[in-house]
Amino acid sequence: MSEYTVQGIAITELAERFGTPMYVYDADIIARQFRGLRERLHPSVEMFYSLKANPNISICALLHSMGARAEVSSLTELITAQRAGVPAEQIMFLGPGKSRNEITACVKGDVTLICESFGELALIDEIAGGLGVTARVVLRVNPAFAVKGSGLTMGGKPRQFGIDEDALLSTSDLAGTYPSVYLCGFQAYMGTRFLTEDVIVENTARILERAEALSEKLGIPLEVVDVGGGLGVAYFDGERDLDVAALTEQLNPVFAAFADRHPQTRLVMELGRYLVGHGGIYAVEVRYVKESMGELFAVADGGTNHHMAAVGIGSFVKRNFPMRLLSREGSPETARWNVTGPLCTPNDTLGKAVELPADVRPGDVIGVERSGAYGPTASPVHFLSHGYPAEVLVHNGQARLIRSRDDAESMLASQILHQFTTEEN
Ligand SMILES: *Cc1c(COP(=O)(O)O)cnc(C)c1O
Repeated sequence: MSEYTVQGIAITELAERFGTPMYVYDADIIARQFRGLRERLHPSVEMFYSLKANPNISICALLHSMGARAEVSSLTELITAQRAGVPAEQIMFLGPGKSRNEITACVKGDVTLICESFGELALIDEIAGGLGVTARVVLRVNPAFAVKGSGLTMGGKPRQFGIDEDALLSTSDLAGTYPSVYLCGFQAYMGTRFLTEDVIVENTARILERAEALSEKLGIPLEVVDVGGGLGVAYFDGERDLDVAALTEQLNPVFAAFADRHPQTRLVMELGRYLVGHGGIYAVEVRYVKESMGELFAVADGGTNHHMAAVGIGSFVKRNFPMRLLSREGSPETARWNVTGPLCTPNDTLGKAVELPADVRPGDVIGVERSGAYGPTASPVHFLSHGYPAEVLVHNGQARLIRSRDDAESMLASQILHQFTTEEN
């Protein structure tokens, strides 16, 4: 069998049934990622799925069915988690620019807010006070230490996220200042795309230590300590996936020692990319092949409009995601192909000089692997009015559409045609 399959279903069958471009998610791989960590991680640590990585409601429901909680960052993500069946006490809302509506929905729905500024704290207090209730709030701390080893640093330097540790330490009587807020713990998130076990362990230990110190100094109980996460997925040459056994072997004693001192504290880890990245493939069909000034191009029906991350994350040199010809084996002889999409910009390049069979031809399906996180949701899907691709979940050997492809009607549904009087000429 030379054709790529997902749980035994041929990619060409999926392409025929659902069309291309499409994202195909393999529930077994998502389950493997979740359970591989869950089974090894210290039992007192709760795993929260960050919907930001892939906000599809069925993906959220799948992870919740295995025991994941939900971390959300917009009203729609909150409603997604609620409709996926996640109960309020298993949802946390985080984000630097929360609206009045979002805060109100959390306060009314008993959802814990992770607060990112004093201004937000005042607004939460005002809203909760107005409703005659108390809001549950975890403070996001921007710690006074920085770490190396993340793909994108979110803490330990000037950032819009969280409240600077020093600023928190110089406050007095936060509880008295915000009487309708119940401060119940701390969160810190240092960055994303961590691929070094030691760095994650060190981060976690330092966050736990800071949470204890802040709790003592500010008199805030440690009901919740959220150590962030940012666990990475290897995409590029020279990167290596995290060794979950080695990671938990080092991490668990750190959590265990903390849990011994604070047996009532809910420990939280936030996981987006790590849970869903491996389990998704972006499949495009080649429309044209051409040569330009000595280079080969496979022009496909989908591109960076659905997969902006493939342009290269935080790097000036284009690095390719793992890519392969899916629909057949192809010739043993290979060539270097630029795999491009339908957009009218040279940046619409999924892969540059990718080694693929030399005989790539129109009708072939090419896949970008490890694409289950930050795919269409983090891409300019509206560019050229192409809209969202189809999303398909394969679960228990069955393929199901979990998001329909946009078409002209769905794309135009939210636009308003103003009627102009036609001028005589
Ligand atoms: C983006 C984000 C996450 C998820 O990050 P991953 O790297 O996908 O795991 C978790 N927490 C916060 C605060 C985030 O901003």
